[in-house]
Amino acid sequence: MTDKQNAPSLRSCFDFFDNNNQHLCTYLDSAASTQKLSAALDYTDAFARHQYASVHRSAYTIASAATARYEEARKSLARFINANSDDIVFTSGATESINMIAKGLSQSMLNGSTILIVQSEHHANILPWQALAEAFSLNIKVLPLAENGVFNEQTHAHWLNEINDDVAILACAHVSNVLGNIYPVASLCKKAQEHNAISVIDGTQAVAHIKTDVAALHCDFYVFSGHKMYGPTGIGVCWGRAVMLEKLRPSKLGGEMVQAVSFEAYTAVAPPLKFEAGTPNIMGALGLAQACDFLAQHLHDIERQEAALYRHLCHKMQAIHEITMLGNESASIGIVSFYAPNADNHSLALKLYQKGIALRFGQHCAMPLLSSMGISACLRVSLGCYNNREDVDTFVSALKEALADSAEDSIEDKQYIDAR
Ligand code: PMP
Repeated sequence: MTDKQNAPSLRSCFDFFDNNNQHLCTYLDSAASTQKLSAALDYTDAFARHQYASVHRSAYTIASAATARYEEARKSLARFINANSDDIVFTSGATESINMIAKGLSQSMLNGSTILIVQSEHHANILPWQALAEAFSLNIKVLPLAENGVFNEQTHAHWLNEINDDVAILACAHVSNVLGNIYPVASLCKKAQEHNAISVIDGTQAVAHIKTDVAALHCDFYVFSGHKMYGPTGIGVCWGRAVMLEKLRPSKLGGEMVQAVSFEAYTAVAPPLKFEAGTPNIMGALGLAQACDFLAQHLHDIERQEAALYRHLCHKMQAIHEITMLGNESASIGIVSFYAPNADNHSLALKLYQKGIALRFGQHCAMPLLSSMGISACLRVSLGCYNNREDVDTFVSALKEALADSAEDSIEDKQYIDAR
């Protein structure tokens, strides 16, 4: 199926793009958050209106049915990443998942004194490790990228070389939220495994775009957020290898995660419920499972469609000489971050917003990466399964116009300064 044939059918799965809405903007900000799958909204709405009850607490009919659906949702998530459903913990999102891991590790689980963090990591995959490093006196070492955020064979070899017996944790995204780079996590995690290091893979930007099979990745933990994969906000997943979840201490304590409680102590139930204290985000889990089932059904086509659209986007952007594009062109999902070295990039972004382009400008929660590249901010366009060539062409025309406006602004500024 070509991208042209496929785009309308997937686009029609999202009410956001219906006829009343389609002139609202050209939505190219899916890496920040995706639009919501209509089927997921309908499903959770019907459940909340007509079948709602809390889960794992009571056995009256609708409560049992709600528990069954919640556990079915867990199974959908497990199937989606080729995991065992007992190893799927529902969290509020990737941020909570990584905090849950970092706060739950005890010193006896760590076999080295270094935490390796990839240079392009999101703050969510840096800050929890800083806290762990402080708590257990560990060092943080950065796995660097080549110029402009490129990952290449030399980078790969260097990173592999850094994984040794002194490494306690390897923290790496499957896909960078700024650069779009797809990192070869299977080879990195395999090496980590050989050296008894714990690998934590942030799959937040991967799962909606490339097939994920945690069994093949050799990682110990894999985390992601529902709102970047056409599902609801406030729900996400922490997958952990069973032996890891067994040893990990629960950092969120309260109702439903216990076997027995006294005023002095408690004993926890087995994972995954050990990590799900409190009433969970039931509607979030059900909506996320719907999104997963949609992705599982269409991912093959989505990968091809987004790859074709990304090539088209790169081809058009490469012809614009005023901008510098960041990250890899191959082994990348549909994310392009860029900046114009000779323009005011903030005003460039504002001009694009005014032209109806929904993209992101700023540091993308990756300040260390931007600092290492010597820039303070950049613009990012990101594709979802609903985007088409028209969206890309509209953006590229708007960008050319905005750059031309910026050039005129700076001539006017110069004339104003010269005249003074
Ligand atoms: N990791 C990556 C790679 C991300 O892109 C994001 C969201 N921008 C996060 C982690 C954090 O996700 P959330 O805010 O949903 O917890």
